Amino acid sequence: MYIEAISMLEFEQERGRVVIIPFGSIEEHGPHLPLATDTTTAYELAIAAGEKTKALVAPPVYYGVCRSTKEHPGTITISASVLRRLAKDIIKGFVRQRCQRFVLFSGHAGTIHMAALKEAGEDLVEENVVKRIAVVSILDLVDKDLKLETENDSHAGELETSLMLYLRPQWVKEFPKEDYPYFPKFLLVKEKRKYWPTGIWGNPQAASREKGERFFHYLLGKLIKVVEMVKE
Ligand SMILES: [Zn+2]
Repeated sequence: MYIEAISMLEFEQERGRVVIIPFGSIEEHGPHLPLATDTTTAYELAIAAGEKTKALVAPPVYYGVCRSTKEHPGTITISASVLRRLAKDIIKGFVRQRCQRFVLFSGHAGTIHMAALKEAGEDLVEENVVKRIAVVSILDLVDKDLKLETENDSHAGELETSLMLYLRPQWVKEFPKEDYPYFPKFLLVKEKRKYWPTGIWGNPQAASREKGERFFHYLLGKLIKVVEMVKE
């Protein structure tokens, strides 16, 4: 059930359910994928999981914390402290509405972004504000059974390009070649784009719509298990 489409009375009846809150980013995804790739994949998986588990699906949070891509055109990043407070405030808003169980599901898997969501969740558990909460990203659901051909695929490569070919083919441009960043180890650099000009981390040319459909349903099965765990 999409929260954005239901009325006050429907919400009142259904508020005992698990709430899935999708988190995304507005971030470069190479020359071929849209800026809202992470938000789109997270929201579509959340909606499908909501249908199967009868969870409520909140409107997505479009903005996230993007560190390595913040110099690339189109990336609009927010700070980790803002994301942490925003996540906590949204959840507290739901708790005020007598919702108690949550899945924070992120299409963006940046380290600092996920740390902010986990810290928000940890605080709420510590303060006994929520009954159960899980924090998980799409990349957390990837394992060897997904059978990605690209070994180190994480951004705008085989996985995300395939998912977008399945979900929004009209938004996908011609695929560029396989590429990876070459950031110096341990050293933090300001000119991120110099070390990662294409903004691709993986192999978009290994992508297909068929794979996208298979990946989507595999990831959906794993997300459903997370929702069921939060429901118990
Ligand atoms: Zn992404």
